[in-house]
Amino acid sequence: MKAAVYKGNSRLAVEEVPTPSPAASEVLIKVKYSAICGTDVHAVMYNAAPVGVVLGHEYCGTIAEIGCDVTRWKLGDRVIGGGGSPPPGKGKPWSTQPRFNYRTEGMTQRRLSGYAEFIVLEEWQPVAIPDGVPDESAAVCEPCSVAVKAVRTSNLRLGDTVAILGAGPIGLFAIQAARAAGALQIMVSEPSETRRAAAEALGADLVIDPNRTNPISAIEDMTDGLGAHVVFDCAGLKNTLDQAASMARRGGQAVLIAVPWEPLPVAAADWMAREINIQTTFGAAPEDWRTSLKLMQTGSVRVESMLKESDFVALEEIDAVFRSLFKPTDRLQVIVKL
Ligand SMILES: [Zn+2]
Repeated sequence: MKAAVYKGNSRLAVEEVPTPSPAASEVLIKVKYSAICGTDVHAVMYNAAPVGVVLGHEYCGTIAEIGCDVTRWKLGDRVIGGGGSPPPGKGKPWSTQPRFNYRTEGMTQRRLSGYAEFIVLEEWQPVAIPDGVPDESAAVCEPCSVAVKAVRTSNLRLGDTVAILGAGPIGLFAIQAARAAGALQIMVSEPSETRRAAAEALGADLVIDPNRTNPISAIEDMTDGLGAHVVFDCAGLKNTLDQAASMARRGGQAVLIAVPWEPLPVAAADWMAREINIQTTFGAAPEDWRTSLKLMQTGSVRVESMLKESDFVALEEIDAVFRSLFKPTDRLQVIVKL
């Protein structure tokens, strides 16, 4: 089968590798769509991925082969490659190890993963795609779950004003998850015009370009000078966490979702007297995946307006696509079609 292998020096190469075969308690998934995640782009850009791995963790497909002990799947079942509830002792290291460090340990143990034609998972790992959720939406269930977890982790209450920094996939899902959770006013700050248009289409009340409008003044204007109840940093750029804290009202909250790979300067004296709560959130738990699928099924989360025909690329294009994503981009979401 073909797989995009990380070669070091920020390069990926599509190579012929042996098709894995499932052990007794495993399933083989034929991958259909594999979404390119910003985390993978950063891992490649910063050379944080080990040479020889196949990245990709946002994908869906069908069960193509089952091990002899597998009971919960049959051939052809539509699945997402993740989100299953781990049995005792099988939880992800980042959610179980007491001193886990994502920067130094997060990329070191990877099995063959989603940028490949086939992948083997243990039978508990995938989740079924419910009727009414198309494959294209299911492929981005993971980033949706990350936004759902962030909202569920936050102090957001019915009627709150929310600000979202960055309208990439996570930011666009955060708009929808925050709205579903009861946010009354949502402001979005995003430099890309395409992404701003997507944020508007998904119902954000105020969308600004931070290169032209100061996000702190904008949220002050929107809230009679008080600031937002909760600010979600979905950008993780050098200035955004500090900006998020500055945008929060007295006793408000700044939630860091995006992983910043470089140390961030913060001017805490500017906002600490307002007793701002800084909250981090990481990844998603199985319940967040299930919630995401329900939100997609009921229409509270809409994926269609986030995807265009040109967002689907062939595996052969993956190295060029990754390079194009090293710089700030207008693209919302790129999905490898296998
Ligand atoms: Zn991801």
